[in-house]
Amino acid sequence: MTPPEPGPVTPLVVNIHAEPDGVFHLEADGALWHGFEMATRLMPELRSRIEERTGRPAHFSWQFRADGQIARTYGKPGWAFVRYAKEIEALMRAGDDIGLHQHGYRWDASNGVWIEDYGNQPWMEEVASLGFAAYRGVFGRPPESFTAGVSWTNSAMVRLVESLGARYELTAGPGRDKPFPSSIGQFTGRPPDTRRMPRHPYRPSAADFQVPDLDREDGLWVIPLTTGRQSSGGKLRRTFRRLTGTMARHEFITKLFLQSPTEYLGPVFHAAPDPIEQTHFTLDIRSDAFCKAKNCAAVRRNIDYLTSPERPWQLLFTTPQELVAHYLAETRPERDPRSPTDDESLGSTAFTILGP
Ligand SMILES: [Zn+2]
Repeated sequence: MTPPEPGPVTPLVVNIHAEPDGVFHLEADGALWHGFEMATRLMPELRSRIEERTGRPAHFSWQFRADGQIARTYGKPGWAFVRYAKEIEALMRAGDDIGLHQHGYRWDASNGVWIEDYGNQPWMEEVASLGFAAYRGVFGRPPESFTAGVSWTNSAMVRLVESLGARYELTAGPGRDKPFPSSIGQFTGRPPDTRRMPRHPYRPSAADFQVPDLDREDGLWVIPLTTGRQSSGGKLRRTFRRLTGTMARHEFITKLFLQSPTEYLGPVFHAAPDPIEQTHFTLDIRSDAFCKAKNCAAVRRNIDYLTSPERPWQLLFTTPQELVAHYLAETRPERDPRSPTDDESLGSTAFTILGP
């Protein structure tokens, strides 16, 4: 590693959701997770590249699926922790975070389909308990980071995962007011309206996970994801909207992805962030994205873009733990900012138009 460049750094958490390839709507066999396996080859190579280019250590957060669907399809909820023990050990040795990721899939035997049953709170709580027990059974401690599928969570769920031992919650990001996309198949419930969610890390109040409790001195942190606008329109139409600042009806707010086209990350990452307004960034990726060469190429391009030596400020690739430590040590304002209004919840730097 070359000596670190002086100048401001902003933490970036890369969340890799380690999951089966594809989405099971029908019964499936227990196929290996080829996308995850590819990720365990590509990401360490990119780690070296990041460290070379930034002069700073780079860490990632890997959150593994352990839930009702994994239990039914693979024989036990913690299947991946055992099958990929060697890979996980290597990631831990490199300083990465190994967390838990869950979807709400419940097998509907009468119709022979999986339903993402987020509207069924007792089921979701059963799933959480199942996953935490599986993690604890393998690692002897609870996972520190937790994320749920399709940006779904609620206050009862955040309280539960905290009581089960999670310390960092990275499911939701600000600005979202739309239900699930129709592409995910059958589902119940809906993700939270996050238009008033803060953009900085915070300890949530028990009554409402989107409201910081400034009196809390321990317990779980909510780390809001970096979000932007997504359009289902063509590239030309998206460019037009970006230039004119208009938002079409079929645009919606979604989190940013590590494999998004670089041109869509540009508006978010081009300017040095205001440390109060933009305390950190996140980029998510589902492991099966690594199955496609075009996504791997996009990830490489984005890593090069994000670590460009010409950048006047640097990103620090951190685990959630390191992000919060950085926030407390360097970024946290005298008092936490107030909750944003609707217009402010995304801020200018987190607003872009993403590809389909
Ligand atoms: Zn997922």
